[in-house]
Amino acid sequence: MVRMARLIDVTRCTACRGCQVTCKDWNQLPGEIGEFTGSYQSHMDNSPLRWTMIKFFEEEKSNGDVQWVFRKHSCNHCGDPGCLKACPNNALAKSELGAVYRIEENCIGCGYCVPFCPFDIPKIDEVNEKMKKCTFCIDRIANDLRPACEKTCMPGAIMYGSWDEMSALADKRLEAAQKRFPNAQIYGKNELGGLGNIYVLPDGPQNYELPVNPTLAPTLGMWKDIVQPFGNLAIAATLIGTGLAFLFTRRKAFVNVESSKLAEGGYHDEQKNDRAL
Ligand code: SF4
Ligand code: SF4
Ligand code: SF4
Repeated sequence: MVRMARLIDVTRCTACRGCQVTCKDWNQLPGEIGEFTGSYQSHMDNSPLRWTMIKFFEEEKSNGDVQWVFRKHSCNHCGDPGCLKACPNNALAKSELGAVYRIEENCIGCGYCVPFCPFDIPKIDEVNEKMKKCTFCIDRIANDLRPACEKTCMPGAIMYGSWDEMSALADKRLEAAQKRFPNAQIYGKNELGGLGNIYVLPDGPQNYELPVNPTLAPTLGMWKDIVQPFGNLAIAATLIGTGLAFLFTRRKAFVNVESSKLAEGGYHDEQKNDRAL
């Protein structure tokens, strides 16, 4: 199967927020009333009920004027996903199409995936103790439909196709973008095994809250290879210890009861009572 990708062309986004609304619509996520923070940006971040949103940034033009640019913020469906590697319960998987998706019944909401995502994407739903994030519309793309966000984007700021097609399209878009934005660049082709979102950015990624050269935390290997197995052993040892302690305590209590009954002649009383019935 061919790996799929989205092209996110920040130089074309008009901040209409159609993608933000249609994502909620397709995924049946209820609306949330936020607080006005003095910005045109509708919300500050994603949430368990908001899997994609538009972030606003100010860009200074060469003549000193300021212009807005907008970036769609959602899971990047990394080629090498830190969230998946960190998950202790096999609650994340990668489909052949490239979607990094959650396996609902395995997710225990432990939050270990959160610090290992370089893009601050996973959000924990405290109500049902599950992690929530963009699914790449896996239920749509697995049925030959396009992601809901891409389908709604009129200026072509989101495009969807095979990873190779989107990679080639990014190159073409870059040429056009550089006429307006001399520092325009592509982001996502080489980062973390290639992202499922390939961006055309007006300037360096640091200007749009994207990490320059994102890497997986070195502690991830330590966590997965040492702490987790050790943690599992510790849990098993605790369970065995608790079980043994329980048996030992019961045995001790039983011995105590037996001794006290013998001392008080309890058995005899019971035998008498039995006969009396
Ligand atoms: S639908 Fe397209 S143009 Fe509108 S906010 Fe989303 S990415 Fe931008
Ligand atoms: S962006 Fe974060 S949540 Fe999405 S696949 Fe990559 S590591 Fe996982
Ligand atoms: S791919 Fe689907 S779940 Fe992800 S942001 Fe787009 S509409 Fe939302």
